[in-house]
Formats: sequence, structure tokens, C-alpha cells
Amino acid sequence: MTSIYSYSLEDLTKLMQAMGQSSYRSKQIFSWLYQKRVASFDEMSDIAKGFRERLKENFNFYRPTMRLKQESSDGTIKCLFRLEDGQEVEGVLMHYVYGYSVCVSSQVGCNMSCAFCASGLLKKKRNLTPAEMLGQVLYFDEMLRARDPSTHVTHVVVMGTGEPFDNYDNVLSFIRIINSQFGLDIGARHITVSTCGVVPGILKFGKEGLQVNLAISLHAPTNEIRDQLMPINHAYPLEQLIPAIIQYGKDSGGRRVTFEYILIKDVNDTIDCARQLAKLIAPTFGYVNLIPYNPVMENGFERSPDQNIELFHNFLLQKHIKSTVRKEFGSDIDAACGQLRAKHKDGN
Ligand code: SAH
Repeated sequence: MTSIYSYSLEDLTKLMQAMGQSSYRSKQIFSWLYQKRVASFDEMSDIAKGFRERLKENFNFYRPTMRLKQESSDGTIKCLFRLEDGQEVEGVLMHYVYGYSVCVSSQVGCNMSCAFCASGLLKKKRNLTPAEMLGQVLYFDEMLRARDPSTHVTHVVVMGTGEPFDNYDNVLSFIRIINSQFGLDIGARHITVSTCGVVPGILKFGKEGLQVNLAISLHAPTNEIRDQLMPINHAYPLEQLIPAIIQYGKDSGGRRVTFEYILIKDVNDTIDCARQLAKLIAPTFGYVNLIPYNPVMENGFERSPDQNIELFHNFLLQKHIKSTVRKEFGSDIDAACGQLRAKHKDGN
């Protein structure tokens, strides 16, 4: 049986039609689920009892359960969620001046094996369903509303464990549910998907007609450096990635991507690298989000000194590349990707 939380309005409408119902039925169900937040068909009082019974035979209300919660002094809350097959994933809530943002995991583990990332320590076990991604958002949203009814989740970033474009269809259904005005009604511009550079995914995503933000984990200005940090670069090197991003801009009506760039001492943080980066990305008109490397494991990598970060940042600005240095959250609660889950597995 499938979770009702896995269906976008579009998919549910098709299903309702196949079950001989009017297309309005799916909007009614969405409104019960996401506006009134009921968790049983029996509470959907404007749906005939006979049809409620049929719904019960076909769908359940499965959502991941919260197992472990860590709250940082800066307000960041990281949760470990348990899935129905016993697997565990992390979701993080961050409080910004402009609202509350949830960082969602899209897979159990990750196969991308980036050298700096703790998520890849656990190989991909499986993709998350839309309901399992949505469950992370709903948990935090309901927690916020219970604490203060005037607050709720306003932003979603698909930047947790996993590669979203390695789970394309489920991620897209999830985005459609949170974006739908009958669903969580989170504006497309408040939703960001982050990819390590899966070129076919980028090209497909550009043609979906969504106004969602796309972030590219770039982390290096040359193939030589990127090959060492991110194995995906062997499959989709920069000479394929950059044109795909330019194409994405054209297909999506001029949407600009954000490049994420972790600064690792003596690996990718020199002025030479900044110069190569500026030249590489100028044709895309993208922004750069500089991320001080978070030392998550024994891999020999060190965080760039603040002085290098500043020099790198200023160089990009001089070259008219819009760039910011990412604020760090939850450094006291293992908030970097995969850390909490990795620790929990070790029994710590
Ligand atoms: N697979 C997707 C999304 C998950 S990673 C992607 O690659 O974009 C989310 C972001 O966290 C990526 O930019 C990733 O490079 C970054 N990240 C991973 N490990 C990190 C670390 N130790 N310090 C800082 N950022 C890290």
C-alpha cells in the first residue's frame, strides 16, 4: 500500500479519475491533508463513506517517525527519522531572519562519494519516496506551529543526504506537493534543489516549467581538482557541466543557478583558483555561495583560514561575480551532512 503523502495533486487527480471520481476529489483530499492536517480518511467528512472505505483499501498515512533530536544554541534543530524498513535519514531545521528552512534528505546514504562529504560514507541503500521527504518537512512544520501558531516552514532545500537527480521522479513529486497551493503552498522561489552536477538531470529539470532554485555543488574550477574531490566529474566533466547550466538558464526562462564552493585549505582556495572560477562561470551569470569546509572526518582536508576566504570572496566580487560566504549553522550539533546518522549507526 502506498502512502497518500507520496502523491502530487496531478498524480492524485489521475488516480481519482481512474477510480471513477471527479477531479475535484483530489483537491478535497489535499485540503484535508495539508490545510486541515488530518491523518485518517474517516475525518474527511465531505467524502462519502463508501468511497472513504475504498481509499482506506488503497492508501495509508505513512510518514517517517522522529527518533532523535538535537537542538543547537543557534536554534538549528537536527532530527533523525526512522523509515518503515528501519533505515534512518536526517532532516535539519534552520532559522533565518526571513523564515524557517528545512534541509531535506533525498536518499538513504549516497553513491556520489565526494571526498569531503560524510554522507557518502554510507553507500546509497535506496531512494526516499515523496512521502518520506515530505514527512521531514511536515514534522518540522507541525513542531513550529505547535510552539507558535504564527510560525511555519517557509523554505525547503533539498541539500541533505543523497543526490536529488539520482532520485529524479520522487524529488519532483515532492516539490510539486510542497509547492502546490493546495499542498504546503511553499513558493517555488523558496525551494532549492542542490545537485553535484548530474548533467541529464539538470537538462531535464530546466524543462519542467518550475521556478525552483537550482544549486550546483561545484567546489573546483578545473577538472584536475574536481576529479579529485568529486567522482561525478569523471562522468560529467566541466566541459559538459557548464554548457548544461547555460542551457538550463535558457530553458527555464533565465533562472540563474547558485554555485556552492567549499573552501578547503591549499586544495581549492588560492587566488589562482578564484581567477579560474570567475572565468569558468562568468558565461552562466550564476552566483557563488562560498562554504567554509566543515571538517567532518579524517581525510586530511582542513578548513581555509578566514583570511583566504576573505581574499577569495573579494576577488570574485572584483570580477563582478556575485558571491556570499555561507553562514554556518549548528556547528555544535553535528549539522554537516550525514554526521548525525553516521554517529548514530556507530552507536555513539
Ligand atoms: N548531492 C547534492 C546535495 C547534498 S550535499 C549535492 O551535491 O549538491 C549538500 C551540500 O553540502 C553540497 O554543496 C555539499 O558539497 C556540501 N557539503 C558536503 N560535505 C560538506 C562539508 N564537510 N563541509 C561543507 N559543506 C559540505
